Amino acid sequence: LSAVPPSAAGGPFTLEAEFQRDLDPRKVNLIIGAYRDDWARPWQLRAVAEAKKQLKVESSFHEYLPLQGSSEFIKSAKRLIFGDNIVNEMSESIASIQTVSGTGANSLIAKFLDKHTRCNNIWLPDPTWVNHKDIWEVNAPRILMRCYPYYSDSIHALDFDQMLHILTNEAQQGDAILLHACAHNPTGQDPTEEQWNKIARLCQAKKLFVIFDSAYQGFASGDLDRDAWAVRHFTSFSDLEIAVCQSFSKNLGLYGERVGALHVVMTRSPHTTAIHVQDRLVDLHRAFVSMAPLFGCRVANHIFQNQELQDMWHADLTTMSGRISSMRNALYSELLRLRTPGDWAHAKNQVGMFSYTGLTKEEVEVLRTKYHIYMLPSGRASVCGLTNANVKYVAQAIHNVVTG
Ligand code: PMP
Repeated sequence: LSAVPPSAAGGPFTLEAEFQRDLDPRKVNLIIGAYRDDWARPWQLRAVAEAKKQLKVESSFHEYLPLQGSSEFIKSAKRLIFGDNIVNEMSESIASIQTVSGTGANSLIAKFLDKHTRCNNIWLPDPTWVNHKDIWEVNAPRILMRCYPYYSDSIHALDFDQMLHILTNEAQQGDAILLHACAHNPTGQDPTEEQWNKIARLCQAKKLFVIFDSAYQGFASGDLDRDAWAVRHFTSFSDLEIAVCQSFSKNLGLYGERVGALHVVMTRSPHTTAIHVQDRLVDLHRAFVSMAPLFGCRVANHIFQNQELQDMWHADLTTMSGRISSMRNALYSELLRLRTPGDWAHAKNQVGMFSYTGLTKEEVEVLRTKYHIYMLPSGRASVCGLTNANVKYVAQAIHNVVTG
């Protein structure tokens, strides 16, 4: 074992450990993608607290779930992402399995495509969530990872023409493409409905297998249906094959409980295909983790089954997305007031948990060493780490760093 090489240092969790060791009282954590309240504390959703109370968890058993997961949970998870109409029409063409949250769903679809299809390339957006590359490398060694341009640093916006250009010219029939369903991580920049439509047509023309990573439903707009628009729109194309990796970490605040699902929609195949796909997913999952965890899914399920708790959940989503958007506006107003050079409109216009600030690696380093403000070297800042108490300090530090 002495030949085992050390792991490459870096990444959000190394930075987080460094933040924890930092004793400066002014320190600000803009690293990890988890919601924080206006006192920078973790926040339990009211719906979750109430569900746990009603479930009387002290007396519940801890049996295994079935291999495909809880059937009630899967039914509700499907309805949340696809909506009633699609589920009522196409239920038999959708294979679904409960997974170890979004990471588990991404890993499972990578393993599945590697083992059971002839997919040769997976197209990932550039940039994307840092873990996507590791997930595909570890789980799909046969499939080549390719990147399509997604975001232009110079205009702080989607690089849409380049994205379509590269995919049109280089993607091959049968390749897979990964799309963030909403609140793109790390850029906070989503396509418009018109752009989504063009992407769908391209996927249709090139017969690409579409993988939606849906980790932030409800976090972009505060509305679960609106944030599922792209997924539902793609599903309306009768000849697209689609997978959805669904996470409830952020929208239910059940991060550590690992609640999620993987759905595969087969619009152009006979429904026996859905059964075969479902069985293969279960087989792979069995070898990998057996079945997903029980506790978080029980809490989620209780909320999904109970109208009063669902209303509470929707209000919780408004609280979280509302606070994030007010922090975006506060940061933007401060930078404007300070007359910080550059156009900072992207700080307020991007959606979801993150702001892709456009700060360089060197500027991020100065923010950390001189001002004890921590964010990813790419300039990605978790807006949840901003509070009414620290936003002025952060804006002033950004101003100082930019004006050098
Ligand atoms: N996809 C994206 C784009 C993410 O940002 C995240 C969480 N950071 C995930 C998937 C997975 O999160 P989890 O495994 O907690 O569901």
